[in-house]
Amino acid sequence: MRVDVVSIFPDYLAALDLSLVGKARQRGLLDLRVHDLRDWTTDRHRTVDDTPFGGGAGMVMRPDVWGLAIDEVLGLPDGAGVRPGAHLIVPTPSGEVFTQRHAENLASAEQLVFACGRYEGIDARVAEHYRSAGVTVHELSIGDYVLNGGEVASLVMIEAVARLIPGMVGNPDSLVEESHGAAGLLEYPVYTKPPSWAELEIPEVLLSGHHAKIERWRRDRALERTAQRRPDMIAALDVASLDKHDLALLGELGWVPGPEGLVRA
Ligand code: SAM
Repeated sequence: MRVDVVSIFPDYLAALDLSLVGKARQRGLLDLRVHDLRDWTTDRHRTVDDTPFGGGAGMVMRPDVWGLAIDEVLGLPDGAGVRPGAHLIVPTPSGEVFTQRHAENLASAEQLVFACGRYEGIDARVAEHYRSAGVTVHELSIGDYVLNGGEVASLVMIEAVARLIPGMVGNPDSLVEESHGAAGLLEYPVYTKPPSWAELEIPEVLLSGHHAKIERWRRDRALERTAQRRPDMIAALDVASLDKHDLALLGELGWVPGPEGLVRA
């Protein structure tokens, strides 16, 4: 997969050299390129922003500079048009909230281009223009809060996507039971050595070696934790995917099957 990040603070993206993403870069699993937006400016001051039409506080990033940058990173080397399978991602607090489903879908893309906004954001015509030119454009938020720029949001999304690329995570089994996976639950609590720490013991069942009991214990804890922390996820569960034991536990936790899924009793 090729990933391009365009920013006025390319050094912000230095973290992409570290950890699993950095290793994937070294091993050639990820062709990751970071660009300085100012390289596409044409004036002496390397200007990327201007005052907002209609007035108001702050500055807006110019579409012409962004257009030159995105055209170049999306273009094929011989100028034969836009690379097929390319996605343009515009991080913005006014976007759809980025979830594991987005990460899964983006993990099979051929190219991801991240356009990191600053100030009041990027002129809205940029997303509109590339959408009408046939590029898949995603305006995505990483949560309901406002950051100063799109760099941290891009780092978050790149890491979430990159770890799903085959070969990235050493043991792919570790991706199967994770929070926000196919089961639609948060992960159960996890423990390691020592078995006793700070006067806290690990649950005995985990030492039993009884795989079926361990699996049941973990599923119960995942259901309990999800009900307590993310009732929205319990309400979204497919009732057909739950066994009798699940339904009994959820009943004790105050959830019963309704006409369109689980509802509070
Ligand atoms: N005026 C914008 C608004 O109210 O929607 C906020 C602009 S913010 C100060 C500057 C840049 O930070 C945005 O263009 C975007 O790239 C990034 N950003 C801020 N919060 C974000 C979030 N929650 N998710 C994704 N990107 C975010």
